[in-house]
Amino acid sequence: MDSREHIVMLPFMAHGHLIPFLALARQIQQRTGFIITIATTKLNIQYLYSSISTDSNSQPLSNIRFAELPFNTTDHVLPPNTENTEFLSPSSIGNFLHASLSLKDPFLKLLNDIVHQEGKPPLCVISDELFGWATELAKSVGTVNIAFTTTGAYGTLAYVSIWLNLPHRYSTDSEEFKVPGFPESYRFHRSQLNPYVRDADGTDIWSRYLQTQLSQSIESFGWLCNSVEEIEPLGFDLLRKYLGVPVWSIGPLIPLAALKNTSSSTSTSGFSFFKQHTGKKTGLTPEKCIEWLDLHGPDSVLYISFGSQNTIGLSQMMELAIGLEDSGVSFIWVIRPPIGFDLKSEFKAEWLPEGFEERMKQSKRGLLVRNWAPQLDILSHKSTGAFLSHCGWNSVLESLSQGVPILGWPMATEQAYNSKMLMEEMGVSVELTRGSQGFVVGKEVKRVIELVLDKEGKGKDMRNKAVEVEKQLKEAVRDDTDDVGSSVKAMDDFVRSILSKSTQEQAESIE
Ligand code: UDP
Repeated sequence: MDSREHIVMLPFMAHGHLIPFLALARQIQQRTGFIITIATTKLNIQYLYSSISTDSNSQPLSNIRFAELPFNTTDHVLPPNTENTEFLSPSSIGNFLHASLSLKDPFLKLLNDIVHQEGKPPLCVISDELFGWATELAKSVGTVNIAFTTTGAYGTLAYVSIWLNLPHRYSTDSEEFKVPGFPESYRFHRSQLNPYVRDADGTDIWSRYLQTQLSQSIESFGWLCNSVEEIEPLGFDLLRKYLGVPVWSIGPLIPLAALKNTSSSTSTSGFSFFKQHTGKKTGLTPEKCIEWLDLHGPDSVLYISFGSQNTIGLSQMMELAIGLEDSGVSFIWVIRPPIGFDLKSEFKAEWLPEGFEERMKQSKRGLLVRNWAPQLDILSHKSTGAFLSHCGWNSVLESLSQGVPILGWPMATEQAYNSKMLMEEMGVSVELTRGSQGFVVGKEVKRVIELVLDKEGKGKDMRNKAVEVEKQLKEAVRDDTDDVGSSVKAMDDFVRSILSKSTQEQAESIE
């Protein structure tokens, strides 16, 4: 293999996209020795550097370079809750999306510079599925584009197909609708759509942006997917049929250490790969969280977090606290100011029932962590029994890699589709509610928490299934000399395919 081969990557500027891109770059680099250039804006390069510096488990970044692309606005990262109309005016989304398109020219210049310096085009471009414009640019310099989806196959198919097949016709009695690409009998519900897509007809900002980008990404030479063949066979089967090009399942792109340990560790594992955005106030150290978890019995603690950016409404925060207290269950809860308040501001006691934090502290029943928690350290601790999650794909993979079942509270993007798959296909989750303002009362919170943490019945079934998925995830990345897992095979197959495509194109250009 020629280690001077060069791959150029173009991540979308959001936390949940950047981190898997970096992990993918590392994986390809370690497997092939190729040079990798990650092209993104200054702020995001700084962010990626800061996450690398906290990643104690991995090798230094030899042969991974960063190329800075100028950004046409001050917002270099997609703002939080972008698909929640409460947060952002259409104009601020418009600015961000417009500026995203302005990356085209500098990206083309970067590709041309590489062609000029190296005398040949890069082996391929790997662009985020939300940057479909890279497909044409890659072609124009004589290489191919590979679309990378940072989510699972099922969620990707639902996301792409739902955006590309507007408007949706809901049945009048049940508000359900069919999604092209899914079997005839499958139904999605209107409430599983975020506000932007729910009644979109293709003329609004999001529709215009996403329809253009996704339909261009579909023209890619192939797709890479951050998931594992065995955990979602239906999703991969349907996605391949829908796209009609190769889809390589090369996940899970989470720290390798998380895929090697057993789910019974009690010490800190230094999983701080996913460092928060700089500037936010950190919560507790991994050591403190582990110390607290050590006080509790196996599979008894509920971990609650809504990802890197989300928060919930004030009334829902109250109801969640009431349900938690009534259930008697122990928990770690990553708390942020509720919707409508500055996320960077101090958390106020009045946002929770009176005396709640103090009571939980005294009884050692509940640990409230401000803003950011060491998620993988918590999930990999033997005391953690379930995860109340917004079903962001990284959180899903991290939870299942530790055999931890999920209580779903999907909020935006493809999270509700992930949640549907976790329940209906995998049997590892129960959905509590939907939407960041999702309506839920304390009694229901208590009922669902008790159900999932139950050592018998449905709780036990879910845990057993989650442990099965854990094994499949770990097996997929097995890399013994005589036999390798499905994701390692898929990575090798991907590399072979682009090398042979490149050889073929060079031969054609000589003729
Ligand atoms: N995360 C974390 N601590 C927190 C919140 C989030 O470490 O308190 C990490 C989490 O481990 C995951 C990522 O942030 O890797 C969130 O990604 P996900 O795809 O689940 O959701 P998103 O933030 O993209 O909505």
